[in-house]
Order: sequence, then structure tokens, then C-alpha cells
Amino acid sequence: MRKLFIAGNWKMNLDRAKSVDLVRGLADAFRTTTNVDIAVCPPAVYLSEVAGALQGSSIELGAQNVYSKPDGAFTGELSCPMLKDVGCRYVILGHSERRAIFGETDAQINEKLHAVLAAGLIPIVCVGETLGEREAGRTAEVVRGQCRGSLAGLSETQMRATVLAYEPVWAIGTGRTATPDQAEEVHRDIRELLATMFSSETSQQVIIQYGGSVKADNALELLSQPNIDGALVGGASLKVDSFSGIVQAASVVKK
Ligand code: PEP
Repeated sequence: MRKLFIAGNWKMNLDRAKSVDLVRGLADAFRTTTNVDIAVCPPAVYLSEVAGALQGSSIELGAQNVYSKPDGAFTGELSCPMLKDVGCRYVILGHSERRAIFGETDAQINEKLHAVLAAGLIPIVCVGETLGEREAGRTAEVVRGQCRGSLAGLSETQMRATVLAYEPVWAIGTGRTATPDQAEEVHRDIRELLATMFSSETSQQVIIQYGGSVKADNALELLSQPNIDGALVGGASLKVDSFSGIVQAASVVKK
């Protein structure tokens, strides 16, 4: 049985006071929610402050990115030990904005992934096709290629400790969500790929989130699909009502 996992990616939004207000509101809203794993991923400069505000709640902390080296002369970067030091449990890797704007490659994501796992953090590895790739009928090829490249060299145990997020690029921040059938088709295909790369037991254990304009009013239908195990949420994670509506939908899904 895979436990649903909802994570909020705040991207480069909010300020210190709003970050703390938001997590206080979320901690209050999720006081009695135990059947869904929940995480928030604030901007790195607010991680410590948010960690403090999350004390005593079951909401976990995640970072939006990390560098693969543990320390050294890497100006502007953050390491896995630093993220652990401030209380992170999760790290998002290979978000489409990092791939498209900052040129991150599968090979770089793979290097970060190995560092994150070695540090005992839980990676959330993002994959997804662009609109052009979907329209050219290349979705499965692109997503499979990203999975193969990003997940290269993992052991079965490491794969089981890794979360995947299928995020069609055309659905991120656009208000245009994949239909539940479109999303399920890709999730099923990723799980089939994992069965060939690892084993069917491992593929059945991996959490695969969907991301792309998930909102309180479309979450239930998406999360009810057999191979969708949660959501990576951008815009709707910035307000207590919208994020808690998604978590609420997850809490009533029967798998
Ligand atoms: C995201 O940033 O990962 C995302 C899915 O954003 P949004 O929910 O705003 O589409």
C-alpha cells in the first residue's frame, strides 16, 4: 500500500512573515490528518524559519534544489548536509523550471540524486514532457528517457527511497491540467519502466506524484487514479485553503 504524499513547491514566492503564517495555518489545518504525508518546500532562505514554525506538526520540510558536493568552493550553492542541518527531509530535483531555465541535465540530476540518497534525504525527482513533445506523440519516449537518465545507477533500495513526480510541462502554472486519464497513462508507463529497470516489487512501492495545476477541485479525480500516489503542488500550495483542500481530497481517497 502506497501512502499518498502531497508536497507544496512554493518556488520563489512569499516572504519571511508570509511563509511563517502559511505554515502555522497549515499545521493547524492538518492537526488530525494522519493518512497523508505532507511536505512544504519554501525558498531556501526561509527553511530554518519554516522549520521552527513546523515544530510539533507532522508536516515535513523540503528544499527545492541542492548541489551534489558536500562542501567547498561552490559559490551560491547549498549542500545536502546543510539541508539536513536545517531540518529538511525532502529535496525536489530536476523540476522542469530548473531543466528549462537553468539547463539542468539528466546527468546532473542523477549526480544530485546519488548525493541526496547518500545523505539520507528523500528526493522528489521530476520528469515531464513539453507541449511540443506531447503533440509530436513523444511523451512516453521523453519521460522514459528522463527516468532512465535521472535514475541511473540506483539500487533497488535507493529506488524505493525515491519519490517521482510526473509533471507535464504544459500543465505547470498554466491552469491546464492533464486529464486523469492522460496522467494515469503516463504514471502506469513509468511504473512499467521501473519494473524493467528494477523489479515489479520495487515498481509497486515507488510513490509517483502528479504535478501540474492541481487544485482542490480537481485533486480528488486525479488522486483516485490507481497509479497516482499524490501531488506536487505549485500555485495552490501558497494558500492555506487551496493546499488544505488538496490534502483533504487525498485523505478521503480509497486505494
Ligand atoms: C510545480 O511547480 O511543480 C507545479 C506543479 O506548479 P503548479 O501547481 O502551479 O502547476
